[in-house]
Amino acid sequence: MKPSFIVAADGWVAAARQFPSPNFEARPAGAVPTLIVVHNISLPPGEFGGGAIADLFLNRLDCDAHPYYASHLRGVRVSAHFVILRDGALEQFVSCNERAWHAGASSFFGRERCNDFSIGIELEGSDTTAFEPAQYLTLAALSQALAAHYPIDALAGHSDIAPGRKTDPGPHFDWARLQRETSFPDQYFPYRHRPTAR
Ligand SMILES: [Zn+2]
Repeated sequence: MKPSFIVAADGWVAAARQFPSPNFEARPAGAVPTLIVVHNISLPPGEFGGGAIADLFLNRLDCDAHPYYASHLRGVRVSAHFVILRDGALEQFVSCNERAWHAGASSFFGRERCNDFSIGIELEGSDTTAFEPAQYLTLAALSQALAAHYPIDALAGHSDIAPGRKTDPGPHFDWARLQRETSFPDQYFPYRHRPTAR
């Protein structure tokens, strides 16, 4: 069954498991979230479960526990607003009112610093694995809740706003399914639906 979420005035979703991360800052003056950025992540890469994503976002990942952590993640300070686990469970790390650190160097149709004006959602997954139906249901419901609270008018993949540098959410992410489950119009998916020429 599709869940239903509400974003409170403080930018937190009460129904999410909340793990406040120190990795955030204020959005620039006047910046409000207008973009949802979809990512995938798994730690170690390709392995699901175990809680290492939360540990990373809370700066408590044991980087000696896996060679990938030691070579890629030591000293890294990152966060996303949300993580959706394989079973569809929703975790929140940063208030949507604040600027999380998920997109890095990025450009949305020429507008840079996407973290300033976006909400980052990580799906537990990889570029080589299909996502779970429960993850689409949670993502769709969350996207609808975010669009009801903020002037969201577009969704993009990390690879759309950081091409050549990022590949997530990857070829298995089904944008048509997300659009169907959100009922968002075509213009919310500007990387999939080009505006008709006029
Ligand atoms: Zn990403």
